[in-house]
Amino acid sequence: MAQKNKSESKGRNSLYPKKPSGKLYTYRKWVSYGLLLLLFSFPFLRFNGEQLVLLNFIERKFVFFGLIFTPQDFYLFALAMLIFIMFIVCFTVVLGRLWCGWACPQTIFMEMVFRRIEYWIEGDANKQRKLDAQKWNVDKILKKSIKHFIFLVISFAIANTFLAYIIGSNLLVKIITEPVSQHVSGFLSICLFTFIFYGVFAYVREVVCTVICPYGRLQGVLLDNQSLVVAYDFSRGEPRGHSQKSAADLKFGDCIDCGLCVQVCPTGIDIRNGTQLECVNCTACIDSCNEVMLKLNKPKNLIGFFNQDFIKERKQYRIGMKSYGYAAVLFIVMLVFSSLIYKREDIQTIVLRASGTLYQSRGKDKTSNLYNAELINKTNKTIKFRFKSQSDTDEIDFIQKADILPKEGSAHVTFFLIRKNNSIKKYKTDVVFEIIADGKILSTAATSFFAQPAEE
Ligand code: SF4
Ligand code: SF4
Repeated sequence: MAQKNKSESKGRNSLYPKKPSGKLYTYRKWVSYGLLLLLFSFPFLRFNGEQLVLLNFIERKFVFFGLIFTPQDFYLFALAMLIFIMFIVCFTVVLGRLWCGWACPQTIFMEMVFRRIEYWIEGDANKQRKLDAQKWNVDKILKKSIKHFIFLVISFAIANTFLAYIIGSNLLVKIITEPVSQHVSGFLSICLFTFIFYGVFAYVREVVCTVICPYGRLQGVLLDNQSLVVAYDFSRGEPRGHSQKSAADLKFGDCIDCGLCVQVCPTGIDIRNGTQLECVNCTACIDSCNEVMLKLNKPKNLIGFFNQDFIKERKQYRIGMKSYGYAAVLFIVMLVFSSLIYKREDIQTIVLRASGTLYQSRGKDKTSNLYNAELINKTNKTIKFRFKSQSDTDEIDFIQKADILPKEGSAHVTFFLIRKNNSIKKYKTDVVFEIIADGKILSTAATSFFAQPAEE
């Protein structure tokens, strides 16, 4: 009978997964190091004078690799989020929950940072189990204190990085370096998030993946018989048995029921019971079973990346129609997104006619309309600009003038557009305004001009 990695006497916190090892675990470690490096460095690197990635939900300002998205670009941000979700869906349909086991920050921190510190201080699963069961003594107090102190320090680092993404690294550095009294709410946020992360990684652990995270719950909807998932090849492994010698009359499968695949599982499941919501596709069970197969001189991958069609009917893997459908939709949304990004102007100009009279007569030969304009600078540079009508025969009489657009700021302009009566042929005509800086048209805005047409 396979040995479980759960304690019988305690609650859910008693999972003691055995330290994994093997080829896939080594690959996972390197992938994790790379992702951790990116995660911790992104908010502190600068590109075009801006933080590389900023997700300031409070001020609705988002920065991705030099591109600044203001509240006016919220539709672009929403579309980018949609693309991200669709990518994950597409990825899941083809490769199951590989994201969870290999790229999700929760798993990376849990398995590659916190769990490894635990192995380092308390030893492998059996030693941890023993330590938890024994009475408090100097050794236990020392080990537990060191572990939880290191957990708190790392949680503090994660909380700071998390806040650097949200409020920006410049403000974070100010909060850390200036007196607490000047940044009480910032200081409290750091403390709060430190304790949240500490609670998650020290106590809640795999429950985040198995109960809280909605992505795992979506698996049942997204996966089909062709999706590649970590699975046990039961047609090769069953009937399982400890020893073929002691039951020579029985034809055993390749699984010797050693239980190693269960012991290394960080979510405490037995993959031989089939695909389960709790499986995060970490591949630890593949590694441990491969080691067993190697010792038994049997082919590897009794547990491996398989689709159900292969396990049940030995059908060769092919990408299903559902995946092509999702990929096509994703491609179309990405095309729309790219064209919107391409067309996006650094300055957004909105010109609206002022309410009140439609038009004003100016002497015998001219008519004017009153407008309000708002200019929004989406760059991190101050821009000196000129505001003009596209038609050179139009005159502009400013009531409120502006020629400087502050970085990431806005400017308001109120003005009369004056036209000669003899050029007015229709009651309603189009008018286009241009924002010019350094001889280049940075933005245009169209609206209407109303006037009584000149009599022939
Ligand atoms: S590690 Fe392999 S052989 Fe051992 S119980 Fe799991 S599936 Fe069977
Ligand atoms: S069943 Fe295997 S792949 Fe799934 S979570 Fe457990 S060890 Fe990881």
